Amino acid sequence: MQIISYKKISIQDRQLLLATKKVSERSVTLKKHKVGCIIMCTDGSTYQGATTTRTRAIGSTCAERMALDQWYFKHPKKDPAICYLVGTFDRESWQDNFICTPCGVCLEMFLELLIQRKLKKLKFMCGNWKLSKVLIADLSELFPQFGKGGWPYAKNIGGR
Ligand SMILES: [Zn+2]
Repeated sequence: MQIISYKKISIQDRQLLLATKKVSERSVTLKKHKVGCIIMCTDGSTYQGATTTRTRAIGSTCAERMALDQWYFKHPKKDPAICYLVGTFDRESWQDNFICTPCGVCLEMFLELLIQRKLKKLKFMCGNWKLSKVLIADLSELFPQFGKGGWPYAKNIGGR
C-alpha cells in the first residue's frame, strides 16, 4: 500500500481517476456527498457507479456497489482488475485532501467477488478530491490486519 502523487501515476490511470471524479457528479444525495467508482476489467471494459444516499442507510448504495452490480448484471467473461474511487463528503470533519476508501460492506462485497471468481487480488486506486494524491492498494491491504496471521483470506488464495 502506498500513497503517491497523482502526477506519478500513468496517463491512463490519471484519465480514469478524472473520469471517476466526473462519475461522482451523478451521485444522488440529500447532502453534498459525491463518490464515484469505475471498475476496469482485464479486457479494459469499465463499469461505473455513484453513491445514492437516502434517508435510511439501508436504502443507500455505495458507488462501488453500483459499479460492481453493473458488472454482475452484464455478466462479462472478464474479471475486475482495478477499482478507481474518488469521493468527497458533506461533513464538517471532511477535508478535500482526505482519500475516500471502500466501506466495510463494500470490502466484504469485493472479498466475495474474489472468492466467487477465484481471483488472487484486486487493485484499488483511490484519489483524493483534489486529485493531487492517490492511494494504491490491494484489497487485502484495505482490510483490518489481525496479528501476525495477516489477512484471513490469504491462505485460501495463496497470498501473503
Ligand atoms: Zn461502501
